[in-house]
Amino acid sequence: MTTTTDVILTDAGPLDDALAQLAGAVEKLGYGSGMHQLLAKPRREMSVSIPLRRDNGDVEVLSGYRVQHNFSRGPAKGGLRFSPHVSLDEVRALAMWMTWKCALLDVPYGGAKGGITIDPTQYSTGELSRVTRRYTSEILPIIGPEKDIPAPDIGTDEQTMAWMMDTFSANVGYTVPSVVTGKPVSLGGSLGRSSATSKGVVHVALAALEYRGLTPSFATAAVQGFGKVGAGSAQFLAEAGVKVVAVGDQYGSIHNSNGLDIPALQAHVAATGTVRGFGDSEPIDAAALLGLEVDLLVPAAVEGVINADNAANIRALIVVEGANGPTTAAADKILAANSVLVVPDILANAGGVIVSYFEWVQGNQAYWWTANEVDERLETRMIQGWRCVLETSIRRELSLREAATVTAVERVADAHLTRGLYP
Ligand code: GLU
Repeated sequence: MTTTTDVILTDAGPLDDALAQLAGAVEKLGYGSGMHQLLAKPRREMSVSIPLRRDNGDVEVLSGYRVQHNFSRGPAKGGLRFSPHVSLDEVRALAMWMTWKCALLDVPYGGAKGGITIDPTQYSTGELSRVTRRYTSEILPIIGPEKDIPAPDIGTDEQTMAWMMDTFSANVGYTVPSVVTGKPVSLGGSLGRSSATSKGVVHVALAALEYRGLTPSFATAAVQGFGKVGAGSAQFLAEAGVKVVAVGDQYGSIHNSNGLDIPALQAHVAATGTVRGFGDSEPIDAAALLGLEVDLLVPAAVEGVINADNAANIRALIVVEGANGPTTAAADKILAANSVLVVPDILANAGGVIVSYFEWVQGNQAYWWTANEVDERLETRMIQGWRCVLETSIRRELSLREAATVTAVERVADAHLTRGLYP
């Protein structure tokens, strides 16, 4: 097991990054190897085979996972990802980050994550429904409103959650809306859930700008990734007066130094499926987007995009991590040496799980909040989280990521120690 972050010189993978961050926090908190191992190893993991009957009658067997990293502070919580890059190690890393995220924002959950190794764009709606339902029934014994509550992540959406909720309910014999969050509003989803992650990203981005003495209407931003989180972040940044000069997705990146017209761009993406070819812009390559001289860089796609190879090229003043794990442990050191302020994922993108928690609370009480109530409570929690991390980073002389991880790890360890070790 890594005992110090100093040995990280090159990129490894998301699990190594997560373990290096944990090792750094454990060292700062002075915990022994027992506590370190307890926090490093998932409490429970399940690997399942998912036989799928394709529309043409062929049968294909997919791999799926659910990793429950920790339950010390409550039921496990975390998204379900459909991506060809899903592996057990990736899901382990994402589950650990969920534990820290929930602890940091003080939502009463542990952390979990699920994944299926599949490219959802290559399957019909009927096929995706069958994959989701078979996966749900395979992991059924370990999920539930008081055990582990899945939610959307990359490649999954409200419809996926509706299928999971329906499959779970059909199997237990009654309707259980709170087994998942991020459901359609018609099935007990929360108002404001679909925009929650991106609104949260923008709340902390604006707080970070203010901390650095920058005014939104004079600030510029580049957003890497244009899915739900990236597109929403671009939209809410633009609405706050920030000039969004570049965005990119997996098909291409575009730039306009006068600022992109985000509503027009969203209409272009809705029509074509990509930002590429948007009229009022010129194409740039993905590496150039990451290296733009902007105030804010928002990586909002996948892990490891800011890595040992390109971190020295980052010229943004502030990086706000919309994605989980976009900066590798090696890149973190380079950014810190160059005084780039990194607002870490477990704080920056926590808006999603915060409103998931609000959805679970509303569902348990069968009492619905207005969109304004949801938005206001989200903002309050994000700003509380930002202030707590900033204050800890100043007091303990840590980076924002170290401060966030130390705070979260300490809360989880405290919960564990207070409960005591059974038997
Ligand atoms: N997938 C989201 C995340 O990574 C949301 C998880 C949830 O709402 O449980 O934070």
